[in-house]
Amino acid sequence: MKEIQLCMSEMRAFFQTGTTLSVAWRKKQLKALRASISEHESDILKALHDDLGKSDFEGYATELGIVYSEIDQHLKHLDAWSRPKRVRSTALSFPSRSFIITQPLGVVLIMSPWNYPFQLALAPLVAALAAGNCAVVKPSRYSSNTSRIIVEVLARVFPSDYVTTFEGGSEMNTALLNYRFDHIFFTGSPTVGKIVMQKAALFLTPVTLELGGKSPTIIDEGANLKLAAKSVAWGKFLNAGQTCIAPDYILVRRDLQQPFIEELIGAIQSMYGTDPLNNSEFPKIINQKHFSRLTELLGKGTLTYGGQLDPKLMKIAPTILTEPDLLSLLMTEEIFGPILPIIAFDQFEEAFSFVQERAHPLALYYFGKNKIHEKRVVHTLLYGGGCINDTVLHLSNPHLPFGGVGSSGMGKYHAKEGFSTFSHSKSILKKYTFLDIPLRYAPFKGKFSLLKRFMH
Ligand code: NAD
Repeated sequence: MKEIQLCMSEMRAFFQTGTTLSVAWRKKQLKALRASISEHESDILKALHDDLGKSDFEGYATELGIVYSEIDQHLKHLDAWSRPKRVRSTALSFPSRSFIITQPLGVVLIMSPWNYPFQLALAPLVAALAAGNCAVVKPSRYSSNTSRIIVEVLARVFPSDYVTTFEGGSEMNTALLNYRFDHIFFTGSPTVGKIVMQKAALFLTPVTLELGGKSPTIIDEGANLKLAAKSVAWGKFLNAGQTCIAPDYILVRRDLQQPFIEELIGAIQSMYGTDPLNNSEFPKIINQKHFSRLTELLGKGTLTYGGQLDPKLMKIAPTILTEPDLLSLLMTEEIFGPILPIIAFDQFEEAFSFVQERAHPLALYYFGKNKIHEKRVVHTLLYGGGCINDTVLHLSNPHLPFGGVGSSGMGKYHAKEGFSTFSHSKSILKKYTFLDIPLRYAPFKGKFSLLKRFMH
């Protein structure tokens, strides 16, 4: 891949000119990016519709709006975030001044998936550029219409030695991973995440892995079932369930199961009607491979609601399955589609152990009024992030860092956390030369008790 080689050398050469060190220059680039996105807004929404059947409302709320908000956050706070931070010096280094500066890492690689194809490529890019890096963006081939518009939006404002996009499938990712980057930001499945990390290890390149997994929702005593059902229906069937933090399955107190299901069916019908396959606001499945995979999963539990398919439109209606087969792919792998298994529990501890015994989720949602249970869910279970009495919404708050833990990922981004991810925090101690205390120099005879006093 000669093109990648050439592009990398040009980017490194540009980075070394030091142009990106200027915070004012970076802000100018972010403003230009915002203007280019704004100019292409209707094309972006159309591409999202063509790839995933997203309505303009959904495309704006979950993709464009989030990117604009990231740009605005970075523009607003970049001066403060990039200012050197003074910290205390110790008596042992007297007289001196200590401070931390943030520096860009160099040329970074951003690889994104197809489910939120615009937002998941652009939001990390905003952070990377705000921190002063050059960036290579590799969007997913599955969402090819959005990938094409991303290329256009970026090429309109950025020269290729600053920001470059490579289109293509996994062979392109593999080719890119053969080069040394200064940071790799990958969003996708845990399986490919492992490949990325292995490749990165060859160059000791740091990685941020934004992965997925099965995100549980617990419906516990005291839950407002009407609100819980609305929130679950919204979070689960948004983008037809192809959302990394969508509720993957429900754990519900046995006595609440039936009323919850009734409320859930009501919420689904009021959002998508009784014929969701022909509702233009209900998105489609990305491709045949995922459609077939999801169709297989439909048989792994008792069909309680939905289950209709349209292979031509590539749509699957919002579906509820009860008594799911815990050993099937439905319950061992991330569903990533509009199928919601529901499992009943008698004691809260059963639900708690069910989650604790499995891989750390990317998100977890708790509905209920039991303060002790809530505390255990928040403080004891380990997962990326989540909500109490809602779903998905934590992602929309730019003040909350976003990322997984364990098999759901490593590293975080959004606003300040994104800026930090793409920066090196360099610690500097500046010594003043008007005084040189000889304590630390040999010979040490007679200095030991003095050392102890200075160090503590
Ligand atoms: P994926 O891992 O299959 O693909 C992601 C990227 O990796 C794509 O660009 C693809 O071309 C590339 N790729 C695929 N196979 C590869 C290989 N063998 N070597 C190198 N690169 C390869 O993921 P996907 O299907 O595009 O997205 C779905 C997954 O992403 C789900 O697990 C979901 O939870 C996760 N996800 C996570 C987040 C998050 O923010 N944490 C957001 C969205 C999606």
